[in-house]
Amino acid sequence: MNTYEIIYSTENSSEPVLSRVILETKALVNILKADIDQDKGVMVISISGSTEDAKRVIKAFSRYGVKIRKIEKKILLDRDKCIDCGACIGLCPVYALEFDKKKKLVLYEDKCIQCKACVKACPMKAFLIEE
Ligand code: SF4
Ligand code: SF4
Repeated sequence: MNTYEIIYSTENSSEPVLSRVILETKALVNILKADIDQDKGVMVISISGSTEDAKRVIKAFSRYGVKIRKIEKKILLDRDKCIDCGACIGLCPVYALEFDKKKKLVLYEDKCIQCKACVKACPMKAFLIEE
C-alpha cells in the first residue's frame, strides 16, 4: 500500500490543507487514521494511482508546509510466538488482523498502516517491526 504519514504543525493545523491538496492534484487520497487537535495533527493516508500521482501529492503537501513521509517499515507476525488469544484483533483500526477458519491469527500486511497498537498489546511480543 502507498501509505504516508502527514504531520501538521501549529501554523497549518487549522487550514483545510488536505482538501486543497486533493482539489489541486485530483488524486484519490484515503484517510486511514487521524489524530488532530487545534495545535498539531498526525494523519495516515494512502494515495491511489501512479508514482507520479503520489509525487504530486507529496509536493503539494510540502508547498503548504506539511511534513509528509512514506511509511516503509512493515509489521510482521511471528507465528511461533502467537498463541491466537485474539487480544490484538479488536485494536486494529483497519481490520488487518483476523482469525482464519481454524481460529489462527492472520495479519494482512497490505492493509496494515503500522499504527503499532497490536505491537503494544500483544502479551507474547509476537509482532516484529521490520528494519
Ligand atoms: S495478541 Fe499476540 S498472541 Fe494474541 S492473537 Fe494477537 S499476536 Fe497472537
Ligand atoms: S500495526 Fe497492528 S493494529 Fe496497527 S494497523 Fe497494523 S496490524 Fe493493525
